[in-house]
Amino acid sequence: MYQSTEPVPVGTAVPPARRRSPRRVSMRRLPYAVLKHRTGAAGKCADRATADRWFPPDPDPRCPDEGERAAYEDYARALCAGCQVIGECLELALRDESQPDVQAHGVFGGLAPWVREALVRARLAVAS
Ligand code: SF4
Repeated sequence: MYQSTEPVPVGTAVPPARRRSPRRVSMRRLPYAVLKHRTGAAGKCADRATADRWFPPDPDPRCPDEGERAAYEDYARALCAGCQVIGECLELALRDESQPDVQAHGVFGGLAPWVREALVRARLAVAS
């Protein structure tokens, strides 16, 4: 889902990932390449053999079922629980999904796509 393949330049000092993200604002200061590097290196979902688990079928948007959505959100939280780079992952997803041609899909940062869409809308509203 990540659009950029921007590599971390050789010799770049990549700060170590934090176990938790106490302040989202600090993630917003990190370069895209650092976020991508950290999530690729330390994400719980980095094992391609199980990658499909992060892309469960989305609930039908034409017929939103609150129970189905709540179950998806619980699943997303549990799936990413304990991931060392959950803050970096969410920031990366929000940046990607802020692009006009990108639609949120799958689980990133422990959140369902519609939850991230709401965060993106809020972020864009603040920025405008
Ligand atoms: S927060 Fe979830 S989606 Fe993001 S890197 Fe960790 S396990 Fe993967």
